Amino acid sequence: MAKKNNPSAQHCSFCGREQRNLLQGMGDTFICPECIKQGSLILEEMGLMAPGKKPKANNTLDLKTLPKPTEIKLFLDQYVIGQDAAKQYLSVAVYNHYKRILQSVTDDGVEIEKSNIILVGNTGTGKTLLARTIARMLKVPFAIVDATVLTQAGYVGEDVESLLSRLLQECNYDVKQAERGIVFIDEIDKIARKFDNPSITRDVSGEGVQQALLKLLEGSVVNVPPAGGRKHPEQEFIQVNTQNILFICGGAFDGIESKIAARLNTQVIGFSNSDKQQHIDKNNMLRYIAPQDLKSYGLIPEIVGRLPILTSLEPLSKEALRNILTEPKNAIIKQYKKLLEMDGVTLEFEPEVLDYIVDKAVEYKLGARGLRSLAETIMMPVMYEVPSIKQTKGSTYTITLDYAKQKIEAADMLRLQNSL
Ligand code: ADP
Repeated sequence: MAKKNNPSAQHCSFCGREQRNLLQGMGDTFICPECIKQGSLILEEMGLMAPGKKPKANNTLDLKTLPKPTEIKLFLDQYVIGQDAAKQYLSVAVYNHYKRILQSVTDDGVEIEKSNIILVGNTGTGKTLLARTIARMLKVPFAIVDATVLTQAGYVGEDVESLLSRLLQECNYDVKQAERGIVFIDEIDKIARKFDNPSITRDVSGEGVQQALLKLLEGSVVNVPPAGGRKHPEQEFIQVNTQNILFICGGAFDGIESKIAARLNTQVIGFSNSDKQQHIDKNNMLRYIAPQDLKSYGLIPEIVGRLPILTSLEPLSKEALRNILTEPKNAIIKQYKKLLEMDGVTLEFEPEVLDYIVDKAVEYKLGARGLRSLAETIMMPVMYEVPSIKQTKGSTYTITLDYAKQKIEAADMLRLQNSL
């Protein structure tokens, strides 16, 4: 094993230069910092190391510093509006997950099982944001992968193992760090089994991928191609144990409401109690989602079994959208104010402007993602001109409703819709 910092001058065993502070290997072998650097460049070229990244700070998560569920929820509240139920589920699940990893081995035979999570909710309601924010809080490596690009091994597309390559890249190929990271698999609903698929042997992007994913979700040692693909067959694989990786899956599951309704209906009829039906909130059927609905939708039972924490996100109300504009720590409006503050200008918005942006987001079904594009359409000319205007100290620039209307009405909303 290498020892560090031999203080007396020695010759580097690679380049032969005499130097102090060389790293000592077995016996009388030494390596100088220059040769280490050269070595890392070669590794980068071979795709065995992410280029140009500095190693991230070591994860010092331990049982004492592990945030409690209420603390996790409070942190999430700073960035994510609403979604209280999902936040609570996530906070508890994440806390338990890391407690399970960090526990010292006991001999009472109680083994805490890994609990991956599935978030169901319309697109743009905050699924990715929740997962990303938790990873940020815990300072663990985090990767987002779109399930639609994954295919069964041997077909065009990415093998499921590639999602671990992303995680490895995030922590500069520190396998130990990656093995306690979080992977967010988006659009998991898109790999649902197609019940009307005429060819059962070639469900390349459906059941086949689910089977491959299952291995990862269960926890196993996986051979990961270092650069994320099969481009370099000569490269060695990196072994990653997924036992302690937390998988959070997200999906909109379009149309699943009818499956939920059908199940609830049968249950209600079974109880022959019409009171029960009255309590069902028909505008938010997703809140009644249960594992069997995911199965009816086309997720294989084994996958559903490996995603025991199931929770839904609510559709964002106008009020929530309005809050998203101004409340989160890095809210869009706060960002514009900060930008202009750097030019010595106080930026103000007439309150009606914010309502107008929300109304347009709802009218054009742009969701939370559209808020930024709408605000950008209004703010772009302002950010272009204001920095060049000679400012008097403490000047204020107010965005009026008329100005906002004029900019949005002139905008190509179709392009805006398509760009989301
Ligand atoms: P999803 O993964 O559900 O499709 P995202 O989490 O990617 O949606 O949300 C898209 C963007 O919309 C986020 O980056 C964020 O700016 C905004 N957003 C969505 N939902 C919320 C929310 N509940 N609170 C704050 N911002 C949100």
